[in-house]
Amino acid sequence: MDTKDVVVIGGGPGGYVAAIHAAHLGADVALVEKDKLGGTCLNRGCIPTKALVRSAEVMLDARRSSDFGIDIENIKINFRKVMERKRNVVDKLVSGVEQLMKANKISVHRGIGRILSPHLVKVNDEEIATKKVVIATGSESTLLPISGLDLPGMLTTDDILELEELPKSLVVIGGSYTGAEFACIFNALGTKVTIVKRRPLRLEPVDEEVGRRFAQTLPRQGIDVKIGAAVKAIRKEGECLKVVWDTAEGEQGVEGQIVLMATGRKPYTEGLGLVELGIKMDGPAIVVNEYLETNIKDVYAIGDVLGKNMLAHVAFYEGEVAVENALGRSRQADYHAVPSCVFVQPEVACVGITEAEAKDSGIPYKVSKFPFLACGRAVAMDETAGIVKMICDAENGRVLGIHIMGPHASDLIAEGALAMQMGATAKDIAHTMHAHPTVPEAVQEAAMGQLEGSIHFQRM
Ligand SMILES: Cc1cc2nc3c(=O)[nH]c(=O)nc-3n(C[C@H](O)[C@H](O)[C@H](O)COP(=O)(O)OP(=O)(O)OC[C@H]3O[C@@H](n4cnc5c(N)ncnc54)[C@H](O)[C@@H]3O)c2cc1C
Repeated sequence: MDTKDVVVIGGGPGGYVAAIHAAHLGADVALVEKDKLGGTCLNRGCIPTKALVRSAEVMLDARRSSDFGIDIENIKINFRKVMERKRNVVDKLVSGVEQLMKANKISVHRGIGRILSPHLVKVNDEEIATKKVVIATGSESTLLPISGLDLPGMLTTDDILELEELPKSLVVIGGSYTGAEFACIFNALGTKVTIVKRRPLRLEPVDEEVGRRFAQTLPRQGIDVKIGAAVKAIRKEGECLKVVWDTAEGEQGVEGQIVLMATGRKPYTEGLGLVELGIKMDGPAIVVNEYLETNIKDVYAIGDVLGKNMLAHVAFYEGEVAVENALGRSRQADYHAVPSCVFVQPEVACVGITEAEAKDSGIPYKVSKFPFLACGRAVAMDETAGIVKMICDAENGRVLGIHIMGPHASDLIAEGALAMQMGATAKDIAHTMHAHPTVPEAVQEAAMGQLEGSIHFQRM
């Protein structure tokens, strides 16, 4: 039997990047995938949701087009087209990953991978001998243990992406990143949306002040938010579903045509044979060291299956780190500059620590803020809601955290991530010329606020 250098189990962003990077490093690689290449991210996560976010943005722009001197009559939504476009975007990118597998001569094995030993993986009836194994089997939705989960119209994030008709009303249970994104998408498309949450909407790890500012925009956008609701059941009520919870005043509830349960995800390891292999687990998550190797030599794990930073770019990064280590290099995973983005309106993004974390850490720190109201490009775009909040070490000026709500926050945060990765200071950012008029100037102005003061904003 021919022996592979690396077998990767799972073809999501962690797995396919690990396979490609290993091939770039000269390895003979096999990838095992039981479903479509691209995993959650391409098929049921980042990409389909962002295709829908784009439709939502176009809708919002169309509705306020007259503010820009463009009168559009009869704005109508064609939901089937919205979903068809989403499918086309997904298909294009999935086929792109398939091409990359071919181009990098990675053998793709379709089926459920099971690890028989650190050097033998079974897929259907085939056994693949290998020097190293990388587990990249991702995660699955978690559901609250309440009654009514089997009612038609009770959806997970996977199900809602397959809707054929735009619902009249939607109740979102849980309002973290994913819940907030779906709430904003469907609200923009014309669905009546209610978010039901136990605790105030914060969007952790975003700084509390920025998360709170975003939460305050929701009622203005037309989204109802019910806080303090520990949901106990979902019931059928006429044509609708009713989500109910108890309060001191008695039972309360809210009705919707459909209910989305967006209450988080947990690592997925079914069928891998981890117990037999003796892999160390922390609950459902695989435990790895800083080189992303498990307690079993030559077996690595990456991405959502680690149960920590469940983000596609973290999985990409870990895929690269793990195969470098598997192939003889020595690279530690470094998580001090992990950007997080929430694709809502307005966008929210962050990297590094929050003000509360800075306070708790005892590091002397300084906070500066710059509002998009004072950013020329944001004013020209009529997208002035939000701020850039920067937290720096008060002694040496090092950037400790950047938190943004505002236009293109998800793009702007790359500058913050680079600054943190390089150990840059506020002075480094402030002294870097930023093109005018652009929204990144807001980041530069926040950095100036750490020094002598922002140029285009002065508190009265
Ligand atoms: C609605 C939604 C929106 C999201 N939006 C974003 C976003 O905007 N930005 C962001 O960074 N992240 C986002 N995420 C998170 C992101 O999708 C995940 O962090 C990312 O997909 C994790 O990658 P992964 O490779 O670890 O796992 P996955 O993408 O889950 O891939 C795992 C793969 O392994 C396969 N598999 C599992 N077990 C086996 C087995 N035994 N044999 C063979 N194959 C197996 C699965 O079929 C799957 O294809 C979103 C998630 C959701 C649900």
